[in-house]
Amino acid sequence: MRTPFVGGNWKMNTDRGSGTALARSVCDTVAGSGIDVAVFPPFPYLSGVGEVLSGGSDIKLGAQDCWHQPDGAFTGEVSLTQLIDCGVSVVLTGHSERRHVIGESDELVGLKTAAVLDAGLGCILCVGETLEQREGGETDAVNERQIRGGLAGVSRDQMARLTVAYEPVWAIGTGRTATPTDAQDAHAKIRALLADLYGDGVAGATRIQYGGSVKPSNAAELMAQPDIDGGLIGGASLKADDFAAIIKAAAESRG
Ligand code: PEP
Repeated sequence: MRTPFVGGNWKMNTDRGSGTALARSVCDTVAGSGIDVAVFPPFPYLSGVGEVLSGGSDIKLGAQDCWHQPDGAFTGEVSLTQLIDCGVSVVLTGHSERRHVIGESDELVGLKTAAVLDAGLGCILCVGETLEQREGGETDAVNERQIRGGLAGVSRDQMARLTVAYEPVWAIGTGRTATPTDAQDAHAKIRALLADLYGDGVAGATRIQYGGSVKPSNAAELMAQPDIDGGLIGGASLKADDFAAIIKAAAESRG
């Protein structure tokens, strides 16, 4: 049985005061959920949020991105050593806003994913199709390409620290959500691909989160799908009560 994993991606929201306050509220409302939970604040607030989380909660501190090289002339980038220094234990790679707004390639996402795992951290590799790709019948091919590229440098052993987030781009921040059936179908195909790449044991143990306008009102139905193992939550993670309700739905989905 896979333990559900719910992440809260704060994106470029909050400031020092509101980020710290949100972290405190998340600690209060999410305590004892029995599942894995992480929050991903903006880089400047990692240490402050990390201090709040480490005061008695088991919520993980996550980073929204990283650079894959260890140090040097990479203006504006943040290394994994620096993230570890701030208390980070899990990193997102390939978020759709990195791929489609910033222009990250499958190859770069693969380098980052391998670097995160080589550094001993957990990694959430995000994949998903655009609306145009979905309407063109390319959903499975896009997911396959992004998974193969993202996992190009990842060993079987490292897969124990790898989570996949299936996030259809057209559902992120739009209020539109994949139907539970469509989401389950994409998750099952991703799991089958993981079985081809790493074998049934790894595929059965790897958590696949759903992301894209998850909110308290749709969480239970999504989380109840057999291949959906939690969620990556954007907008709703900025309200502690909504985030807690989604976490509760994920916990209850596994009885
Ligand atoms: C995300 O940022 O990964 C996300 C899924 O955002 P939202 O929940 O706002 O759609």
